[in-house]
Amino acid sequence: MDSRWSEPQAQGLSGLEELVYLSRLIGADTGLVVWGGGNTSIKTTQPDFRGRDTRTLLIKSSGSDLKTATPQDFVALRLDDIEPLFDLDSMPDEDMVAYLEHCALHPHARRPSIETLLHSFIPASVVVHSHADAAIALTNTPASDHILKDVYGDAIATAPYIRPGFTLSKLVGTLVRERPHIKGVVLSNHGLFTWGDTAKQAYDNHIALVSDSEEYASRQSAGKRIFGAVKTHALDTETRHRVASAIAPALRGAVSRQQFTLLRYDDSPSVLQLVSSQIGREVSAVGPATPDHIIQTKRLPLWLENERPEDVERLLAKLPAAVDEYAEEYRRWHGEHTSAAGSIDTAILDPYPRVVLVPGLGMWTTGTNARAALVTGDIYRHSIDVIRAAQGIHRYASLSSRDAFEAEYWPLELYKLSLAPHGGELIGRVALVTGAAAGIGRAIALRLASEGAHVVVTDLDSEGVQAVASLIVEGYGMDRGLGLAMDVTNQRDVIEAFRRTVMTYGGLDILVSNAGIAPTGSMHEMSLGLWQKAFDVNTTGHFLVAQEAVKIMRQQGIGGNLVFVGTKNVPAPGGDFGAYSASKAAEVQLARVLAIENGGHGIRCNIINPDAIFQGSGLWSEEVREQRAQAHNVTVDQLEDFYRQRNLLKQRVLAEDVAEAALYLASDRSAKTTGAMLPVDGGVREAFPR
Ligand code: ZN
Repeated sequence: MDSRWSEPQAQGLSGLEELVYLSRLIGADTGLVVWGGGNTSIKTTQPDFRGRDTRTLLIKSSGSDLKTATPQDFVALRLDDIEPLFDLDSMPDEDMVAYLEHCALHPHARRPSIETLLHSFIPASVVVHSHADAAIALTNTPASDHILKDVYGDAIATAPYIRPGFTLSKLVGTLVRERPHIKGVVLSNHGLFTWGDTAKQAYDNHIALVSDSEEYASRQSAGKRIFGAVKTHALDTETRHRVASAIAPALRGAVSRQQFTLLRYDDSPSVLQLVSSQIGREVSAVGPATPDHIIQTKRLPLWLENERPEDVERLLAKLPAAVDEYAEEYRRWHGEHTSAAGSIDTAILDPYPRVVLVPGLGMWTTGTNARAALVTGDIYRHSIDVIRAAQGIHRYASLSSRDAFEAEYWPLELYKLSLAPHGGELIGRVALVTGAAAGIGRAIALRLASEGAHVVVTDLDSEGVQAVASLIVEGYGMDRGLGLAMDVTNQRDVIEAFRRTVMTYGGLDILVSNAGIAPTGSMHEMSLGLWQKAFDVNTTGHFLVAQEAVKIMRQQGIGGNLVFVGTKNVPAPGGDFGAYSASKAAEVQLARVLAIENGGHGIRCNIINPDAIFQGSGLWSEEVREQRAQAHNVTVDQLEDFYRQRNLLKQRVLAEDVAEAALYLASDRSAKTTGAMLPVDGGVREAFPR
């Protein structure tokens, strides 16, 4: 592992600034830490609220990420309050957390890292802790004592696996005090601590020790075929992706029975190597690389055995039972450990797998949002690196089942999960909105996203969809929006957009079929071309997207929602608007048939009839405005006001009003409603549904 330290960049930094710099260097190496793992600290002097110099420990707060560390991610604690704890014999976790709360130099501080005492008890100015893959690989073997001696001699001390907390902190503090010449402490199944008088020294020691273990592992594994012979050849990329998109919805449905989850597909070379190998199944069933990974990955992945990876039907047939068996086994495991003597009774978490491995195909990771699924995937890829290195050295071993349970159900780790944003009634849901670059579609996409949905923004306008998707990502987080250019009248386009949706998120829960055009002209003059175009977009377009959506929803088997944007013109058509009114009426009839055909699958289909939404609308072109103004005998400038005066509530109807109705129909609040028509028109008497 190469040092990333840059003297010019580090020059002049001190205290908190230097700690942030050091933290980012550690965070930048995914071989050291991923997503919130590891921590750093510095012992310094800071003024307290009365300006008195106070010996202070600055340490990373629980749940924050080293890679993107900022000064706000660190908590200042009074060392004079913490250090006397070293003389205690024991301290329960809850007491430790409560005590540390009192040590904060500033009120309303974030919760400090769960490894705070360990940092405090090491008598050095700067302390660095990582979950270095290479160091963990050495300890995750049955002969780790001997191996660590081989690699490091007397340069380090080692600690057996003990869950972080007072006991581990006191043990490490004692080891370091007894053997002041050592450069680091390796924690079994957990990671590495180093320290120094300066940040550079602590960092250099860290990189040097990790490099030693990397070199050892590569020497030991030289010439070995680490995962044994290939058992199931990986499918070629094209077939793999075809099979993956055919499998994903059923898998998503099976793992979403308790809570809606997203899937992330991963067929990177290292994943394919593991799942295709002779011993992949065996080594993936050993357990996690570190307890730190368990809250994201669970103790074990689901291995979906599959002798003929290209055989979609066969895989689909065995998938539900395999997922159920996993959940059943997880429940049994939870029950066994909660009923064991001395256990605290803790409510079971979602029993469905977070990591699914499929020979020949790759890996899916799951999460209630795309970010969580990505984090789990990144973490599991590092588990694979640790497994590979440990197998190369000797044989991969892991925590005991009991230690794994105590790590997954440890309240201090669960606390990190509680920091994640909870967000909205559509959490874990995937929505696709057509005609979403502007107007009503855009407003709906943004509203669904605001309630936690992941939104696929589609439209003919490719720049427009990217702009709306970016807005969603900026507002609600990584991978929450996906912009896809799509022509609803082109079946190939439609199929490809739904395939991309499945490959990105695993499936679909909500379709808002909104794209439409509004050709004008009286029937006796209308060209056949324009008439047909109206039906292509306003009828066939809805048919094509609904067909793909329903296929996915039926495969998932967890219900679904179709929301069709109709128009007031369906119940109350207007003159010179024949092609529009007739094609939209056909759309609405299609929606009702979809409600009839799919009710048995829990898939609902409802219709919104908006009227006169001008704002940002592509429908109201200059031509349409002029034409409608003429039809109503007003000027173009008077048109909006004319429509406002025409409705019972004398309201200007906005795209956001339609979006609110779409959210209601897409959410569980309307769970008992299907085949319904909801006007959003300010009240137009002749358009009352009947
Ligand atoms: Zn740790």
